[in-house]
Amino acid sequence: MTLLEIDHVTKRYGALEVISDLSLGVAEHEVVCLIGPSGCGKSTLLRCVNRLEEISSGQIRIHGDQITGPGVDLDRVRRDIGIVFQGYNLFPHMTVLENTVLAPTKVLGMSRREAEEKAMVFLNRIGLAHKAKDYPDRLSGGQQQRVAIVRALMMDPMLLLLDEITSALDPELVSEVLDIVRDLAARGMTMILATHEMGFAREVANRICFLQAGKVYEQGPPADIFGNPQGERTQAFLKSLK
Ligand code: ADP
Ligand code: MG
Repeated sequence: MTLLEIDHVTKRYGALEVISDLSLGVAEHEVVCLIGPSGCGKSTLLRCVNRLEEISSGQIRIHGDQITGPGVDLDRVRRDIGIVFQGYNLFPHMTVLENTVLAPTKVLGMSRREAEEKAMVFLNRIGLAHKAKDYPDRLSGGQQQRVAIVRALMMDPMLLLLDEITSALDPELVSEVLDIVRDLAARGMTMILATHEMGFAREVANRICFLQAGKVYEQGPPADIFGNPQGERTQAFLKSLK
């Protein structure tokens, strides 16, 4: 079943068209990786999907319900669609546990106790339960990014958007974050990732979308895109990474 439909979406910043009449459907439990040169619109597309940016035209639907346009409950959209960015997004003046329970207690009205219990289940799963009472600056970049993922998971999102979540990390910390994404994929979480980690994209994605100038230039299973890219631009991009 289709979870997300991006339907002829265009996004402009002034005269600059960043997303151009782009359509893309994502099925439940699917993991889609967006790849492409810097500036091709990966982040903008993800930000449009959870309404951090307003689209200029087109529609975005979740389970057939339009989430763009007027009259849409933005809190609801952001509850259903989690997003994690490149930088660690944790609040520095709150402990790991406080960071993770903030949204469910404030937005969902979950009791503090229930939220903490839930957070500890997730923190245990990623091996960071012992850091629950620590402030973010006591954690490595990789640990902070794992907590940021937990914070998104606390809302039980139906879709998780991950924007270059390993880009700010030292190379030796990348794998611990990718392990979590791999685990989420195995658990059936629907995800759209923008990533520079081609090896990882190849391994975890069901589908690779190569974006070029705000359009899906080429898409397909990882083996096809990486092993036998058809488009000239895709070939050139992949070659440039070698
Ligand atoms: P990517 O994530 O693929 O590197 P982005 O989505 O960040 O690409 O950017 C796509 C294009 O949109 C770039 O040309 C960028 O400069 C431009 N852009 C992104 N955000 C803004 C903004 N807030 N205002 C104006 N231009 C922007
Ligand atoms: Mg980006």
